Order: sequence, then C-alpha cells, then structure tokens
Amino acid sequence: MNQRRVLVVEDEPTIAQSVAARLRGEGYLVDIAADGPSAVSAAAAYPPDIVVLDVMLPGFDGLEVCRRIQAERPVPVLMVTARGDETDMLIGLGVGADDYLTKPFSMRELAARVAVLLRRVDRAASTVVPRQLGPLRINAAERRVFLEESEVHLTPTEFDLLSSLASRPRAVHSREQLLSTVWGWSDAFASRTVDSHIKSLRRKIGAELIRTVHGVGYALEIPR
Ligand code: CA
Repeated sequence: MNQRRVLVVEDEPTIAQSVAARLRGEGYLVDIAADGPSAVSAAAAYPPDIVVLDVMLPGFDGLEVCRRIQAERPVPVLMVTARGDETDMLIGLGVGADDYLTKPFSMRELAARVAVLLRRVDRAASTVVPRQLGPLRINAAERRVFLEESEVHLTPTEFDLLSSLASRPRAVHSREQLLSTVWGWSDAFASRTVDSHIKSLRRKIGAELIRTVHGVGYALEIPR
C-alpha cells in the first residue's frame, strides 16, 4: 500500500515533534503545521489521508481548520482537546471531527486511533455500488453523495453513518449498532457522538430524511 500521509497540527513544538516521530516510526509520511492558516495551506499543498488536529491554535482554531479542510474534500480528522469537558462541548457542537483524543495522551494511544480511523475509511470505501434511495444517490466507491443531483459534502464519519443507515433503509438502527459499525469501538461519549454526527448529517441532507426513534436510535426515511 502507498505510504499514508498525516498532517499534524499542533502549536506546541515538543508535542508536535513527539507525535511526528511516533507516526514516522509507524511508517507514515508526516507534515507539521503550527497554526490555523498554515494547516489549511499544508492540507491543500500535500493532501493528507488523515489530520491530527489540536483545538487551541494561533491564527484560527482547530474548529475552523476542520471546517475549511473538510470543505475541500472529505478527510478524517482526529481532534486533540485539552480537557474532557472540551471534548463534550465539541461533540455537542457537531464540528465534524471523526474522533477525539484528550491531552495528555500516550503516543501508543494516538498511533492506535490513527490506525483505526484509517482502517475505517478504507473498509467503507471497499464496499458496494451506487444506490438511489429516494432523493439520495450514494456512491460508496467514490464516497460521494448527491441530493436531487447536487453533491452534498459529507465528512468521512457522516458518510459512514449515512451508508450504515442506508444499508437497511426505514429500519431502526440503534445507537449501539451504529457505533459498532461506524466507529468500531464505544466509550462513555458514545451515544452522544452518534447524536452529534446525526445532527450535522441532518443539516446537510435534510432533517426529514432521518427519523429519530426516541430512546432507541435512527432510521433513514426514504419516501416510498
Ligand atoms: Ca494548542
């Protein structure tokens, strides 16, 4: 397989260097950016397979970096936060990061999260054919979604979530099922992570296409 490229966005040089060293040791190509604007230009110049993104940055913050990078093309983002409550807050905002890691973290934990996220995206890409579901067309091979012929730009997690719901349209998918198919893991933030990504997915494809089944989960509502 081609060498995967990781963009590490971190303004604390010692953290940036140790993260980069660990990831290079794992065989990745690593670019480092130390502030918001240079992160966005680095992502444009050397398109990464994944971004490890610190939230608090000079220039503009990680949320803005995430928005700008994701607007160009879908790329998985592992967001690094200073505290657990910051992670809670970000999940609540539905910023479009695919996973979160709280400082301080071990280099081993970081490398594991990066590997899991990349595997998830690869696995989803290797499945199936374009499907037309009501107003939605889902092309899994290209990871593209069209709503009434206009392309909708989804983050990798939003795409995986939609594909998962679309695998059995109209059926109810519990949060636990969605977590295990999309994320492949679960923890205390788990069900709220699902809710948060559903919220941003609804914003993009239209709230009426996703039905909430109170206390259980979600279903993709395709008009018959
Ligand atoms: Ca920082």
